[in-house]
Amino acid sequence: MKARAKKAEATFYQLTCIGCGRRVREEESTTRCPHCQSPLDVRYDYGYIRSRLNRYSLRNSPIKALKYLDFYPIRDLDQVVSLDEGGTPLYRCRKLAEATGLSRLYIKNEGANPTGVFKDRGSLVEISKAKEQGAKAVCVASTGNMAASVAAYTSIAMMPCYVLVPEGTPIGKMAQALSYGARLLQVRGTYTDAARLTEELSRRHGFYLAGDYAFRVEGQKSQAFEIIEQLDWRAPAVVIIPMGYGTNLAALWKGFKEFYELGLTDRLPRLVGVQPEGCQPIVSAFNQGRDTIVPVAKPSTVASAVAAGDPLDGVKALAALRESGGCALALTDAEILEGQQHLARLESIFVEPAGAIPIAALTALLTTGRIRPEEVVVCLATGNGLKDPKSALKVLPSPASIEPTLQEVEKFLKLKLYEIRAAGAKNGDRTLLTEVPSKQAVADLVRQEFGVRLTPEYAQRVLSLVEDFVNKGKTVTKGDLQYILETVLRGLSSPDGVLKVEDFQVKTTLHGKAEAKVWVTFAGERLEGEAAGVGPVDAVINALKALVLQRGQVFFELADYQVQINTPGTHASVETTVVMTDAEQNRVVATGTSPDIIVASVRAFVEGYNLLWARQRRT
Ligand SMILES: *Cc1c(COP(=O)(O)O)cnc(C)c1O
Ligand SMILES: [Zn+2]
Repeated sequence: MKARAKKAEATFYQLTCIGCGRRVREEESTTRCPHCQSPLDVRYDYGYIRSRLNRYSLRNSPIKALKYLDFYPIRDLDQVVSLDEGGTPLYRCRKLAEATGLSRLYIKNEGANPTGVFKDRGSLVEISKAKEQGAKAVCVASTGNMAASVAAYTSIAMMPCYVLVPEGTPIGKMAQALSYGARLLQVRGTYTDAARLTEELSRRHGFYLAGDYAFRVEGQKSQAFEIIEQLDWRAPAVVIIPMGYGTNLAALWKGFKEFYELGLTDRLPRLVGVQPEGCQPIVSAFNQGRDTIVPVAKPSTVASAVAAGDPLDGVKALAALRESGGCALALTDAEILEGQQHLARLESIFVEPAGAIPIAALTALLTTGRIRPEEVVVCLATGNGLKDPKSALKVLPSPASIEPTLQEVEKFLKLKLYEIRAAGAKNGDRTLLTEVPSKQAVADLVRQEFGVRLTPEYAQRVLSLVEDFVNKGKTVTKGDLQYILETVLRGLSSPDGVLKVEDFQVKTTLHGKAEAKVWVTFAGERLEGEAAGVGPVDAVINALKALVLQRGQVFFELADYQVQINTPGTHASVETTVVMTDAEQNRVVATGTSPDIIVASVRAFVEGYNLLWARQRRT
């Protein structure tokens, strides 16, 4: 790295407001125009860049973000904060191309960056600038990935980092940010709320405000540079990009244009911007020919990384989409999750939902003629799937647990349980049953919907859970049936239980403790017990616990208890998971599914207890 001559430093770029066109000094603001609050843009003296550019080394050194330092607004190269980002694979997808009817399809796998997302390229420039400016601390609002990336870079730069994320941000991303040392808060609100708070925090305490601002765009341009290089110095015909704040799409466009202006490539691609239906402010503006973004108050999508309801860089993204002659479209969550599975299955690239959006858009783009089969298409796979495994698990079955015998493995093979995954996310809310069917009808339905052949015994177990749903006045959707099926099959090896719950009764009030009565059979003997608890579930479980412990057969402890709402809407079904351990360190995991949280909990408890009991008999 050659240090830049001090004189040129001040002049080779400047910050300009994209709204009022004013020039803004970076000491004054690096985020938004102090006069009109519009986003800023870095404008270069391209003559200067051209004169400095070493074309030989550009053409002959391996790709990575640091290679393009001449294209970044960094004055003091000693301050560069890097984790060796970029240089990600441009992977040719032959199977996926064939499946969709394209001849040349590539994935730019940005999940291969240091923190698993393209944002590291932006953090390279942004945090270098923060350091250059002598920032004492950095703050950032994020849907998760920005938090993890900025935290990683501030950690290297030895600056404290304050992060605000919306509550419920995927746990993998929070774990990353916290591990890098971020001081993280979850905000009960949306990303927009977190962004507003972070700006106030920055103003009040003088923290450097990181995020989707002008300097980040500069770093993220390197994706475009690398794509051009990887295609042997030719731009593709089309690049498909998921949009949240719109910053990244704008960054790619700027990168493509710079290489074009400098004669490093002879054409520009069309950009396609894609958002989920539950948060599509930029797509709506584009398709309605508007120049302004109407914010979405409550974004709702499985692709949490793009759930930005009020994207200020949407204006930049709109301009890029129009200038490039591209288009915009929105997809459902089900389509996105299907794309995610498709990509993983055919090309073994596991991305988080937002990263699957471009792949999921291919079919719609082809059938409407917005991309042509012979065109070179690049899809940006923006983020690594391990950041948010829970979303993928939404359309995958929980794997069955078995006792350690080959017999049990054989059962798995014979019943073809591995087929359930094919059910996927599609039509999860389609109503399948409104009344109790016959056992045969249940078996047929399961076979038709999930490809699984039930034995009469399993059909009976499925039927009794279906009855439970219907008798509580709930219709059984495809999603419900999948959970029922999984619950039954997960207990593939459930031993005939020593404990059976015949009935229970709970009395509960708002201010008092809940009181429960339970009737069970224990090893064939009828028993009755009661207990109190902080709530109805607690009371029933306490009563059961007291009964079985009194029998003295198995001493155990409830190590963990989790509740999950499986299906959305008013007819939600609940899945509870319990983990029990005993004195000999046997550990079992059991689950129960029901529209009723108490019933689901009782089921899980009973299954867990019976498993533990059987385990102790065996050892
Ligand atoms: C941030 C992010 C996006 C969206 O990029 P924007 O610049 O906000 O438009 C897409 N995918 C992933 C994985 C992201 O982290
Ligand atoms: Zn302005």
